[in-house]
Amino acid sequence: MAGVKTCGLCGNSYTSGGYYCVTCYEYLRKHPEGIYPQPNIGEILYAPNGDPVCHICRRAYRKLGNHIQFFHHISQEDYRETYGLHHSTQLSNEDYIKTMRDYNKQYYDLVVGENLIEGGRSTRLKRNNKGPRRKIGNNQIQKQYLKWGS
Ligand SMILES: [Zn+2]
Ligand SMILES: [Zn+2]
Repeated sequence: MAGVKTCGLCGNSYTSGGYYCVTCYEYLRKHPEGIYPQPNIGEILYAPNGDPVCHICRRAYRKLGNHIQFFHHISQEDYRETYGLHHSTQLSNEDYIKTMRDYNKQYYDLVVGENLIEGGRSTRLKRNNKGPRRKIGNNQIQKQYLKWGS
């Protein structure tokens, strides 16, 4: 059939433009190197951008653990066992793990900060004992103070 081509990377048939199927095109935008060398048993090979390389298909994925489960349909435990990886080996981009850790820390600071502000508000509202117990914006607070003051 006209218009059907064979992907230069994965070998699947596709009808979109270019030399690769859509999946491989997206992949090559992140990994212009394409397919990586076969990682050794017991080792994680990282692509230049820090993504770990899959032992099965030799492509790199930021979240390799998800890729293994959804693409190859095996559990991370089975994967680690089959390829001689320690059970605590992270199957993710190290930067990604660090980013998530930083994000959690930031988020924690935000939650703590908001709780402190909320604490201040509820103390004020209790003085009149008729403030709404819901979260209210700054504008609403100002209006209510004006009403109570008159
Ligand atoms: Zn492809
Ligand atoms: Zn794979």
